[in-house]
Amino acid sequence: MKLYAPSYYKKFKCIADKCDHSCCVGWEIDVDPEALEKYENCKAPYGAEVIDSIVKDETPHFKLVGDERCPHLDENGLCKIILELGEDYLCGICREHPRFYNYTSVSEVGIGMSCTEAARIILSSPDYAEILCIGESSADPDSIDFDGRAYREEMYRILADRTQSYSSRLTEIYQRYSVNIGEDSIWLDAIDSLEYLDDSHRQLFTKYSADCTAIGNDEYRERFLAYFIYRHVTEAFDIDDLRSRLSFCLFCERLFTSLIASENAKSLNEIATLARIISEEIEYSDDNTAALTELAEDLNSLSRKH
Ligand code: SF4
Repeated sequence: MKLYAPSYYKKFKCIADKCDHSCCVGWEIDVDPEALEKYENCKAPYGAEVIDSIVKDETPHFKLVGDERCPHLDENGLCKIILELGEDYLCGICREHPRFYNYTSVSEVGIGMSCTEAARIILSSPDYAEILCIGESSADPDSIDFDGRAYREEMYRILADRTQSYSSRLTEIYQRYSVNIGEDSIWLDAIDSLEYLDDSHRQLFTKYSADCTAIGNDEYRERFLAYFIYRHVTEAFDIDDLRSRLSFCLFCERLFTSLIASENAKSLNEIATLARIISEEIEYSDDNTAALTELAEDLNSLSRKH
């Protein structure tokens, strides 16, 4: 079936040694069976080093070294597997990162904000609603009747209507999909109970307030929300699921707004760093995403009962 992507997708290229927050540091990198087989059959001298660096437990992964670095990241910030063996020897995660996929009646790909370079591209692209066919995908279409993509288009029509102020567009989205914000204290408790890669971010996220305004940064807030909608709403399987997913996205937008305001972030780099932190700590943790989505779901069903 066809593979689609936002038009900004093709601007992405890993900046490798110029990256100030490499994804090769701090994350455990799993080695998929196909890559493991390639490494085991590799005759080049570096193949043996790759094999020695893999912990072969239930999920094989690279053993991180000092400061939680991937053992194949050299002192110049370059990947030794690419340098010594070529890109074909990358494992699936390294080849794909920061790409993610949505599977509905079609396949869609995007770039994830946990990569600051991707965050910079997303936040500087006003044309997020332009979704282009970029090729074919080998995945099969799903059999769900509900059309999350059509709802996403409707949300994008509201979000991209720049004849209205950003706050009016946001209010329209909350109202049209009956999203209940809930008290700050409820969200602050939830923020405190999340798991964190860097515990200082727990403190940072307590700056959350639904009343925050990040004056002059509406275009960044709009593009941030559009990205979250693309990534998290598209695969909704019914209207209640869609509402919960959207509520999660709107919470992340409020958190983003709160952090821009509290940190007085002004430049694209400063703002992209905050987007990256939210992405890395929240949407790249299945547990955190599930906890916040469930809370949003509870708040919505509570408000429907009253
Ligand atoms: S975070 Fe992004 S730009 Fe940096 S090394 Fe990883 S993929 Fe490349």
